[in-house]
Amino acid sequence: MAVCYVEISGAVMEFLASSLLELIIQTSTNLPPDVRAAMSIAANAETPATQSSQALDIILSNVDMANDDEGPICQDTGMPTFIIHTPVGVNQIRIKQAVREAVAEATRLGKLRPNSVDSITGKNSGNNLGVETPVMHFEQWEEDDIEIKLILKGGGCENTNNQYSVPCELDHLGRADRNLEGVRQCILHAVWLAQGKGCAPGAVGVCIGSDRAHGYELAKGQLFRTLDDVNADPLLAKLESEIMEEANKLGVGAMGFGGKSSLIGCKITAANRLPASFFVSVAYDCWAFRRLGVRLDATGAIVKWLYRDPQRPVERMARGEGFPLTGREVVLTPPLTEAQMRALKVGDVVLISGEMFTGRDNVHAYLMKNPPPMDLNGAVLYHCGPVMLQEGGEWKVKAAGPTTSIREEPYQADVIKRYGVRAVIGKGGMGKKTLGALQEFGAVYLNAIGGAAQYYARTVEKVLGVSLMEFGIPEAMWQVRVRNFAAIVTMDAHGNSMHADVERATGERLEALQKA
Ligand code: SF4
Repeated sequence: MAVCYVEISGAVMEFLASSLLELIIQTSTNLPPDVRAAMSIAANAETPATQSSQALDIILSNVDMANDDEGPICQDTGMPTFIIHTPVGVNQIRIKQAVREAVAEATRLGKLRPNSVDSITGKNSGNNLGVETPVMHFEQWEEDDIEIKLILKGGGCENTNNQYSVPCELDHLGRADRNLEGVRQCILHAVWLAQGKGCAPGAVGVCIGSDRAHGYELAKGQLFRTLDDVNADPLLAKLESEIMEEANKLGVGAMGFGGKSSLIGCKITAANRLPASFFVSVAYDCWAFRRLGVRLDATGAIVKWLYRDPQRPVERMARGEGFPLTGREVVLTPPLTEAQMRALKVGDVVLISGEMFTGRDNVHAYLMKNPPPMDLNGAVLYHCGPVMLQEGGEWKVKAAGPTTSIREEPYQADVIKRYGVRAVIGKGGMGKKTLGALQEFGAVYLNAIGGAAQYYARTVEKVLGVSLMEFGIPEAMWQVRVRNFAAIVTMDAHGNSMHADVERATGERLEALQKA
């Protein structure tokens, strides 16, 4: 007999909220087994001692750290998106209420970053609740249990989603027509575009057809398939496997550093379309592919975890220490000088010990019109929106990986010029304007490992201060003291950019694949 929540009691609501809280915590902190398996394959395939392989070592250690301490795998816990199946007659309003309570509590506990911003006022709600947040999709079904699936997909990878209206012209690939060959070109193009911005190696969910809005929804829905499943449609199964093979020949590598591992999954569905439209919608998810699910009984208790094998315990991922040091690392202790920066070149690994400042979108926009609240002369500016909690009257860093730097491209050159910033840390690289400023003023861009939020949080010895808190925790300017913060010089003061080089090389491979 179907469960009925119409008369849902307070006790069941409490149980439901606590089951949902457990789902959120596990999703944020414990990578699912299929993603772990895919990441192990990716790491083993990578050439040892390359930058890509070093990045994967940090990523694998970070996965263990997150699980050990129940901390967010990545600081960007995204837009929490729930897919909920309920038996006919279940009170969905009460379930919505329980989801909202659990989301607010998970945020209070530092398992989710406060990520919900009013799009008109720019105000962060502070608890991940707001208009249409969290996202909840309800479906009825004829089963007795409630099923709730959750995906946490951060902004870096969300921003790299792409939708193609075919026919279209694609860089390096030429014209994509309205057929499966055109679909293949669009997907490869999306993987190529994502590079380090989406924290490769990632996975793609794809929808062929439908309309613009539903196509994206169906594409994201494909990310709820396990990475090792096989499409029931033989044509799509073949396309998925071809994409996996070809994308991993592109040479994107972990974090876009160049390497063998570019994609850990490709899942495709097709939906009917209008005769006039042919959309290919691509939802890109990064290596921090956080999705889990639960089945709940009539009391609100978890009776089954989805995407997990109860027979298989969580396996440790790290192959050794997080970032194997060679002794050739350059130690930097801010404030930094122009001469120190000009001595660095692309490929150098640096270890920073001392003070640094966080600053991302709001801080950069602020600095265009106002002087910095702290002295940035010789400073290290970290593109990071951390998870912070107050404990015993002090701020503690709970997760602190880099955010996608290209968003600051309109501002960065001016910030370097006006305030004397010597090193910018982020991920995915920056554009020509910033590269020019690095060269002119003697500064460098350092790539930290995207998603390695636990790894980097552990380098923070102390939070020294905070300014611009009116922007909310992730967007405030935090002053922290770090020890042995590892990053790679990917843009130097001599006009060199590893990002531009990898983009060029992968673009050539894309062309070669098309001609083959
Ligand atoms: S791993 Fe990278 S792309 Fe993914 S959520 Fe974290 S910062 Fe964003």
